[in-house]
Amino acid sequence: MADIINLLPDNIANQIAAGEVIQRPASAVKELLENAVDAGATEIQLILRDAGKELVQVIDNGSGMTETDARMCFERHATSKINTIDDLFAIRTMGFRGEALASIAAVSQVELKTRRADSEVGTFIEIDNSVVKKQEPCQAQVGTSIAMKNLFFNVPARRNFLKSNAAEMRHIVDEFIRVAMSFPELQFSLNNNGQELFHLEKGSLKQRIVAILGQHYNAKLVSVKETTDYMNLNGFVGKPETAKKTRGDQFFFVNNRFIKSPYLHHAVMNAFAEMIPSDSYPLYVLFIEVDPAHVDINVHPTKQEIKFDDEKVMYAFVQSAIRHALAQFSVMPAPDFDLDPGIQQLDAIQQPFTPEDQALSVGSSIYKSFTQANQAHVIDKGSNSNLKNWKDLYEGPRPSSGSSSQHSFPSMPASEPRHMPSATASVIDERWQEVGTAQRVPMQVHQQYILSHIKSGFILIDQQAAHERILYERYNRALSEAPMATQQSLFPQTLHLLPADAVLISEMLADLHALGYDRSLSAIIPSSCGAPRPIFKPGTNRQASKG
Ligand code: ADP
Ligand code: MG
Repeated sequence: MADIINLLPDNIANQIAAGEVIQRPASAVKELLENAVDAGATEIQLILRDAGKELVQVIDNGSGMTETDARMCFERHATSKINTIDDLFAIRTMGFRGEALASIAAVSQVELKTRRADSEVGTFIEIDNSVVKKQEPCQAQVGTSIAMKNLFFNVPARRNFLKSNAAEMRHIVDEFIRVAMSFPELQFSLNNNGQELFHLEKGSLKQRIVAILGQHYNAKLVSVKETTDYMNLNGFVGKPETAKKTRGDQFFFVNNRFIKSPYLHHAVMNAFAEMIPSDSYPLYVLFIEVDPAHVDINVHPTKQEIKFDDEKVMYAFVQSAIRHALAQFSVMPAPDFDLDPGIQQLDAIQQPFTPEDQALSVGSSIYKSFTQANQAHVIDKGSNSNLKNWKDLYEGPRPSSGSSSQHSFPSMPASEPRHMPSATASVIDERWQEVGTAQRVPMQVHQQYILSHIKSGFILIDQQAAHERILYERYNRALSEAPMATQQSLFPQTLHLLPADAVLISEMLADLHALGYDRSLSAIIPSSCGAPRPIFKPGTNRQASKG
């Protein structure tokens, strides 16, 4: 019988192992940023092309490497961070497995440039597919620059698994934020395709949180600080009123390492119970400092899941520390706001706005000039104004009756019944035909639902959902057929976006343009703190803002 077992060649073994560490550009971003932090850098630049698919480069001013180390660092299990197994339980660095650079080198083309302060010349190394192509002395700044090019060029199947640039960019920004958040004393920048998306100056944790998550948190952070012999907890939680329906502003770090822990998240949520609605999430940025002997970070290659030797103690500690912080904050008296007494004396404030007054003002030319539907400045009042005009859904154009027809429900197909979207419309249409005209009197329930007769009983329509569906169909048509007609507003609207959102929106520009939004958004201007500020010029296509 022939023997059939082979040893895998190094480059194949490396490629397989790399799968655990490098799944997408964002994984490389995390590893390279962490290496820069471990090397004692104070300024760290992240440079990307094509959301990292073409290039992920990290430049740091850290320790740099000797010529031998520069060659060694790409070997699997090559690390300067542990020597014995005991070291694993005293880890203070981000890395320790010695796998990141070997994995990166196995699935991309790498260029390394590095120099230590005590050396005159630096080292340049080029590696393709785990094979060293070039190694030579070079001129270099003190520190290290590692460029990972064409990720998965040699593993096309995995390259095909990469998502759109917007999606990959979102992952990258998440990783970048996690590292930048845990080291506010270091300077970080992020540049994609030549555009600087983040520029984070060294500062306090509070400054860093505000620079990353937004100015609106500035006066809304409650400091958390609790110290014991066993562990320390410090950081910030958002005041209850800043809780959001979406997640994303929640960060837990253990010994400066970002971790995902549903268990500790629960502890925070518990501390906030009754202060925020049950379906919303408070901001938190919390740092647990604990003797590394009490945690095992080696339970997962990307080290986001870790194990504590006593989880229950952690839970209780986190929960009580946050309760304590929140209690201290809520004993402070609420600020009193008084209107200027002069203003309170005004007739307009003192006397009720009667229906007669209302009728009068509706007839005035000022009112009319501000409410004509073709005015660029008419502000769609959102679903409330739609609710008043819900009947239009059922009727064709009708003679105007007072103010409501002035801004007659713009998005419901009152005057364009053939635009009724297929799904919603056909159901209504068919059943509608079945009942006599006399019975076609729909009713509105709770200002939310439309109740109407059909032959076999009644139909209940969720107004909001129907409205959204109609808009959706309309925009869908605009995307696939003719672009929307637009009219330029007199003044452009400026939207202030968080860097992470600006990244997303810049990937969506073409679609937004097709939907009627002028793309002078090319003006994404980094502000002083680095937050880009896209400028939006909406056309008359106002409903889109709700879509
Ligand atoms: P690990 O970080 O787990 O040790 P890596 O593969 O990420 O493994 O890196 C291997 C080694 O290369 C590190 O232990 C470190 O000595 C060296 N190294 C990597 N990146 C840098 C850098 N930016 N500056 C200095 N040394 C570095
Ligand atoms: Mg590392």
